[in-house]
Amino acid sequence: MKGKFPFFPYYYYLTIIPLYSDIFIIFLSFTLFYVNNSLNPNILNSQKIKNLLIPIFYFNTIMIIISHIICTITSSAVIHNINIIINEENENIKNEICKKCNNIKNIRTHHCSDCKTCIIKMDHHCPWIVNCVGAKNKKSYILFIFYGGINSLINSLVIFKEFYYVMKNKEEINDREIANINNIYNQIVISSYYTLPFFGFFCSLFSFVFCFGLLLNQLKGIYYNMTIVEFHKYKNKENCPFYRKNFKENFKEIFGENFILWLIPTINKIKSLNN
Ligand SMILES: [Zn+2]
Ligand SMILES: [Zn+2]
Repeated sequence: MKGKFPFFPYYYYLTIIPLYSDIFIIFLSFTLFYVNNSLNPNILNSQKIKNLLIPIFYFNTIMIIISHIICTITSSAVIHNINIIINEENENIKNEICKKCNNIKNIRTHHCSDCKTCIIKMDHHCPWIVNCVGAKNKKSYILFIFYGGINSLINSLVIFKEFYYVMKNKEEINDREIANINNIYNQIVISSYYTLPFFGFFCSLFSFVFCFGLLLNQLKGIYYNMTIVEFHKYKNKENCPFYRKNFKENFKEIFGENFILWLIPTINKIKSLNN
């Protein structure tokens, strides 16, 4: 399949599935959010909370989509960034040839069996972006799980409140809807009162816990300046040649010096493989 599509890495085309599933989940959350809000206007009874939550939710959603696209189309593969590897050859980082894909590789490069190529500073292969998290898409990946986590948390809280309201006012809702039970639309509405919040709450909560776990793992990586691959490779962290316990420096290495851009997903510039 490689080389068939000259403009993007081949796996870009596979990302259509996770990307659509993201959009589907976002669409579902929005539908839940607004349908439930209009059916039960007292769910979010504070206008202040509404004014605060809705813009954050919109902003996060846009950021999730942008970071997801950057993550999927940015390749950290040696074949797409060969100049970085060649320019970096020095005493500490000797280049060699990968036995599996015949690309030039060095100590910070790892072969990914899913991408079937060598990846610079490979962190892990992520099925949600159908791509490897590596030197060039690390920032957008971290922001993807960061914004995803916040939106999932907002969803869980709002939907939990909805669920709580529905369970508390069970009788009232049943009485209100039962008059029109012959109508198929009302039958759907009445069953969705219970099933949608229940389903939505657990999906959102799972998504939040998942994103939060991944984020903690990434923060650990930033703290020690190591990738997940390097954590596996060097059981004793201090043996890793790139081990550097300096969160501030390591953070700036990935997110850049300019704090205004810290929350904006951009492609990482690789200054040096030594760092
Ligand atoms: Zn390789
Ligand atoms: Zn991969």
